[in-house]
Amino acid sequence: MVTLVGGGPGADGLITVDGLLALQRADVVVADRLGPLDLLAQLGPHVEIVDAAKNPRGSAMPQDKINDLLIEHALAGREVVRFKGGDPFVFGRGHEELEACAAAGVPTRVVPGVSSAFAGPAAIGVPVTHRGATHGVTVVSGHLPPDHPNSLVDWSAVARSGTTIVVLMGVATLPAIADVLRAGGLPATTPAAVVADAGGRAQREARGTLATIAGTAADAGIAPPAIAVIGAVAALSTPRPAEGGASA
Ligand code: SAH
Repeated sequence: MVTLVGGGPGADGLITVDGLLALQRADVVVADRLGPLDLLAQLGPHVEIVDAAKNPRGSAMPQDKINDLLIEHALAGREVVRFKGGDPFVFGRGHEELEACAAAGVPTRVVPGVSSAFAGPAAIGVPVTHRGATHGVTVVSGHLPPDHPNSLVDWSAVARSGTTIVVLMGVATLPAIADVLRAGGLPATTPAAVVADAGGRAQREARGTLATIAGTAADAGIAPPAIAVIGAVAALSTPRPAEGGASA
């Protein structure tokens, strides 16, 4: 059996109970770069941990090599966990891996995780929806620049959606994304925030508007992994207890 486990973004405590149980039962864990990797140090000495973020040449392990590895271990009778950051079905290639396993006759299961799309904004006190401010949230990949021929995102429709916009993998493309959203009709004054390494030890954030966020993020040294959140909610932060507030 191959169990695809979403570990949540960075912080150890955001994995689900089911996910942690699956990890504890594993003989082999094939782990990605994002997610709560500290948890792997707590597994027994018999557990084989494969770092799929690295190969001898220093680049990421190719996807078919990862698929082959999962299949090989599972067919040898081992309990395999494929460990990913966030939720494995949110820009995680999770379903591709399950399809490859199934095609090789290996049974699979998925344990969803807390996605950085929601936990990232929450880490800086930003709710992705807020009554009276937004009735939805659109989660998009910023991996490809908006004008890229392979981009599947209709950015002007996103601009007109009236929803909060959450962009993953959009650090390098943030200036172009901000431009295309403004061209699509989103006001330049729309609040925007960016959080990097959400929940991790190096968490950083930048705040601004659609007009300024690319600059403030660059000034703040924001680097991947980072989430951008655009919309009225991006002006919110963790509420402070009122001074001299009501006592119990
Ligand atoms: N499956 C993951 C997303 C994988 S795509 C999930 O559901 O969270 C990788 C992107 O996720 C990164 O480029 C970044 O945009 C985002 N991301 C993942 N972990 C993050 C973290 N701790 N802080 C900020 N962004 C994160």
